[in-house]
Amino acid sequence: MITIKRTLIKETIKEIEKKVKVCGWVQVIRSHGKILFIDLRDVSGIVQLVFGPEFEKDKLTQSIRPEWVIEIQGKVAKRPKGMLNPKHITGSIEIQVENAKILSKAKTLPFSIDDDGYEINEEKRLKYRYLDLRRKRLKKNLEIRQKTIQFMRDYLIKQEFIEIETPILTKSTPEGARDFLVPSRNQSGKFYALPQSPQQYKQLLQVAGIEKYFQIARCLRDEDPRGDRQAEHTQLDIEMAFVSQKEILDLIEELYISIIKKIFPEKKITKIPFTRMTYEKAMEKYKTDKPDLRRNKKDPDELAFAFITDFPMFEWHEKDKKWGAQHHPFTLPNFVSQNLGGQAKNIKEMKKNPKKILAFQYDFVLNGQEIGGGSIRNTDLEVLTAVFEVLGHKKQDIKKKFRNYFEAFSYGVPPHGGIASGIDRFLAVVLKEPSIREVIAFPKTGDNRDLMMDIPSEVTKEQLKELHIKLNQKSK
Ligand code: ASP
Repeated sequence: MITIKRTLIKETIKEIEKKVKVCGWVQVIRSHGKILFIDLRDVSGIVQLVFGPEFEKDKLTQSIRPEWVIEIQGKVAKRPKGMLNPKHITGSIEIQVENAKILSKAKTLPFSIDDDGYEINEEKRLKYRYLDLRRKRLKKNLEIRQKTIQFMRDYLIKQEFIEIETPILTKSTPEGARDFLVPSRNQSGKFYALPQSPQQYKQLLQVAGIEKYFQIARCLRDEDPRGDRQAEHTQLDIEMAFVSQKEILDLIEELYISIIKKIFPEKKITKIPFTRMTYEKAMEKYKTDKPDLRRNKKDPDELAFAFITDFPMFEWHEKDKKWGAQHHPFTLPNFVSQNLGGQAKNIKEMKKNPKKILAFQYDFVLNGQEIGGGSIRNTDLEVLTAVFEVLGHKKQDIKKKFRNYFEAFSYGVPPHGGIASGIDRFLAVVLKEPSIREVIAFPKTGDNRDLMMDIPSEVTKEQLKELHIKLNQKSK
């Protein structure tokens, strides 16, 4: 075979009467007497290959099966009139094969990949995710995900935000879920935590003078299996200095309107500007803090965005008999609206009656689902200490536990705030997918197992020993 450069299938239509080399997976085989037709698929599309009578006795060609990986060289020819296939971009041409090479054989797939796959057992799909992803629907979802993320990046960078990566090996941050812990091999008995979010780092970046930070951040939370959740999810994480709540919400509103216009032009946004409503009003009117404000819930292309504001600072956890933070402890309590009068009085009142205190906290809601949340942060160390006290921390431990904050904030901290919006959930809603697993390349099951990689999995005795860990009898 003369070596020529590979042509992507979508480009073959520009090569009429020329010789090309194409590679890909065999999608469909049709035998018509002496002629064999194969639909070949690559990342860019599908093209029809024609193996003429000269291949009739060629054993290898005749043995080709679906999903084999092959490489062929041949001439691009216009299809005869009446044989056009408008379903494919290459439907007006075919390739008359001159040489064929088998690059890899394939067993029969465990399921069909020609349809949308919703009917197939999901565990099976996840076990063979690399095959499931050959499905057109999932490939399209991944492409749209990438486009959306790229749009977010470009949009924010144009507004002089800086994208900064924060560590994955970090310290426990109270975000309301359990941490995944990573034992330290070098420092016996010590642990890292995987980040529930970059919350502390993005705030410390404000002390560092970054002023406009963002990150497409992975957040890891060891949550109990609960509906459509994942142990890891991706957020568009934002933090800004010298900013008001209104400015943050305006930024998000403009960003999401632009995303919809550019990437999902078929969608209709119910109301612009987005509805902004207090938590109290939402609970009173809709009995939920994530109301579905679509005018017509049967219209699959309607998007009702809303911001819910002024959440209570604390919530009572009956199970543990203690107060928790509605969002997280770094949120600024809103004493102003309550007009309690004087910092000392405010703090006293907050400790006495945590339930009454509202916060500069907001959620971002789409069609009845929470797709984001954030707050203006508390930079007043006295108030921050009091918040931690309400949450049940002992005064003398607080400074030690949150030393990074207390120390950093004593070196000139700008007022700041931010928001994080969940990319998986947003995409699932706009793509009308029943679960966020449909927009994640390698999702885990509801109980956090990865069936393809077979994890979590056991490790060797030697590994445990190095990590200074002994399993108790039950967990062995
Ligand atoms: N870190 C918060 C979260 O993950 C978002 C924020 O307050 O910016 O929910």
